[in-house]
Amino acid sequence: MERHRRKLLKLGSGLCLALAVVAAACATATGPAPTVSMDGKVEVLWLGQAAVRLTSPGGKVIVIDPFITQNPKTPADWKDLAKLGKVDVILVTHGHGDHVGDVAALQKLTGATVLGPAGLMATLVDLGWLPADKAVRFGKGGRVNPLGPQITITQVRAEHSSEVTVTDPATKKSTTYPGGEPCGFIIEFENGFRLYHTGDTGLFGDMRLIGRYYRPDLVMIPIGGHFVMDPRDAAYATRHMLKPRYAIPFHYGTFPVLKGTPQEYQQALGQTSTQVFPINPGDTLKFPL
Ligand SMILES: [Zn+2]
Repeated sequence: MERHRRKLLKLGSGLCLALAVVAAACATATGPAPTVSMDGKVEVLWLGQAAVRLTSPGGKVIVIDPFITQNPKTPADWKDLAKLGKVDVILVTHGHGDHVGDVAALQKLTGATVLGPAGLMATLVDLGWLPADKAVRFGKGGRVNPLGPQITITQVRAEHSSEVTVTDPATKKSTTYPGGEPCGFIIEFENGFRLYHTGDTGLFGDMRLIGRYYRPDLVMIPIGGHFVMDPRDAAYATRHMLKPRYAIPFHYGTFPVLKGTPQEYQQALGQTSTQVFPINPGDTLKFPL
């Protein structure tokens, strides 16, 4: 028993030393700020609508649904895509413009690998938006590890549609292409923390399965209504089906038709063990708290 404790103490001091060395190296570095999180947390930066930048505890950067430069809710400070810094992976949930808006430009700028529904990836490659070797097709239920074995991304169902509409800038004529099937993503990080980005979706029964099977710690959930769940539906999914520790409402207020508000969502939730963060675009949170 005593020996075991000594062993643990030794291990602990070794870890402290290792962390001190890393901290010292960071303090003397002259290059760009280190992105490796020293607190072992997942950083979530919400940029409005469903656009989010995630930084893993090991410093990997994932951007989901980059709709930034034309997003009326993205703060001016973040309109320049270069401000996002390095991006390792871009995930897209479906083909609507308020989700794939900046995917081509951001991929070109960062060289990131883009992953999403197979049919959507095929269309984005055919349209010349993405180079074929940087567009990874995968399907619902598929687990992928584009950032190494410690981060797992699982594609899950969403109840929505997916088309890619391209408007010719000269003639203003629009053409619509198939965009595969819409999806959401579950991301499990190095520290075991699990985030569920639902994509655009209505309420569906398998959210109960997603809650039980994938057990997300944090859910980013749409509340705007019209194209997606309204606050009442989102509250039902949160309280009775997903039961996460944390929730961030999104996909509201960007356009007049997305009427739901975080206040209505919280009111519909009532007393619950889920902690809700009604944050603003441009805000950053770190999880677990
Ligand atoms: Zn949509």
